[in-house]
Amino acid sequence: MAKRDYYDVLGVAKNASEDEIKKAYRKLAMKYHPDRNPDSKDAEDHFKEAKEAYEMLSDAQKRAAYDQYGHAGVDPNMAGAGGQGFGGFAEAFGDIFGDIFGQAGGARGGRGGAGGPQQYRGADLRYSMEITLEQAAHGYETQIRVPSWTTCDICHGNGAKPGTKPETCPTCGGSGAVRMSQGFFSIQQTCPKCHGSGSYIPEPCTNCHGAGKVKQTKTLEVKIPAGIDDGMRIRSAGNGEPGLNGGPPGDLFVEIHIKAHTVFERDGDDLHCQMPIAFTTAALGGEIEVPTLSGRVTFPVPEGTQSGRTFRLRSKGIKGVRASVPGDLYVHVVVETPVKLTDTQRDLLKQFEKSLNEGGARHSPQSKGWFDRVKSFFE
Ligand SMILES: [Zn+2]
Ligand SMILES: [Zn+2]
Repeated sequence: MAKRDYYDVLGVAKNASEDEIKKAYRKLAMKYHPDRNPDSKDAEDHFKEAKEAYEMLSDAQKRAAYDQYGHAGVDPNMAGAGGQGFGGFAEAFGDIFGDIFGQAGGARGGRGGAGGPQQYRGADLRYSMEITLEQAAHGYETQIRVPSWTTCDICHGNGAKPGTKPETCPTCGGSGAVRMSQGFFSIQQTCPKCHGSGSYIPEPCTNCHGAGKVKQTKTLEVKIPAGIDDGMRIRSAGNGEPGLNGGPPGDLFVEIHIKAHTVFERDGDDLHCQMPIAFTTAALGGEIEVPTLSGRVTFPVPEGTQSGRTFRLRSKGIKGVRASVPGDLYVHVVVETPVKLTDTQRDLLKQFEKSLNEGGARHSPQSKGWFDRVKSFFE
C-alpha cells in the first residue's frame, strides 16, 4: 500500500507551525489511541500512521529531509525497530548516506512474545575515522577495532553468581513493564526495578556484575567506497551494542572525516588548486605541469595569461559515490614575480621595461582599464 503524505495524515498544511502539528497529532492520538479502541485494527493503523507522521514532522531535521526527498528521505525503519533493513533513498546508495538522516535512534522498544518481557534494540555506536583525500577519492580498505560483547563464561549469561539464579521480578511479575495512569491515558512503562528484563538477580555474578555479558574488542573490515565525502557515514549493520531481552543489536556508524590536503581543496566532486607560473611563461605562453590525484598532467597556457586566471581540467576531480561522472579540477594560476635578481637580469628587465613603456598602455590590459575607472571615479 502506498504511504500517505505525512501532512495529509495529520491534516495540516505544508507550512504548518510546530504547534499546529502538535495539536493535530494530539487530536488524532486521542481519537485512535489503542486504549480507547481496543481490538480495532483500523484504529491501531491510524494511530501508528499519525505517530510516525508526528515523529517525522516534529523533528526539524527530519522534516527538512522529508520536504526535500519525501518518504525516501526519512525512512522510519532507519530509526530503530531493527531487522527491517533500509529502504528507498538510503538503499539506492548502498549503505551510504549523508547527514540529512540525522542520528539513527537508540533503543526503541518492541514487544516481545505474548506476555514476555519488553525487547529493546541495542544502541547504535559511532566510530570517527580520519582519511586522506587520496583515500577518499580512490576508496580505501582498512580494519578498525570496535567494542563487542560476549556472553559471560562464569554465569553463562544469566548474570547470577554461580550456585544462585535470577528470580522473577516482584514489581512487574515478570512482564518487564508496569502500567501507570497519567491523566487520560494509561501508559505502559519499563519496570523500574528490573529495567524490562522481567527478572532480578539477588546475587550478581562478580565477573560481569550481573550483566550476563562482558565487553571486548573485535576487528572489523571497513571498505570505504571511492568518492566518499567529509561527514558521510557508513553503516555496519548489527555491530552496535547488543539488544536487551533478545532484541536486535544496534548498528555501527563509521563517520568519515577527510584531512586537509596540501595541494587540493575539495568542493563536492570538484577540486581546486593554486598553480604558480613564471611571469615569462604567462607572457609568452607555454606548457605547464599540474598535479592531479591520478598523476601529473601538462596543459598549454596561452600567451598573455593573467594572474588569477582559472583553467578547468574536465573529469580530473573526484567521482562522488552518487555521481556518474567525475568532477573537474580547477587550476588557479598565480603569476610569480621573480626575486633575488642578478645584475644582468636587472639590466635586462630595465631594458624590457623601457621597451614596454614605448608601447604605451597596450601592453598592460588590466592597468589600462583600471586607470580609466579611477579617472571616471574622480570626474
Ligand atoms: Zn520488573
Ligand atoms: Zn557473569
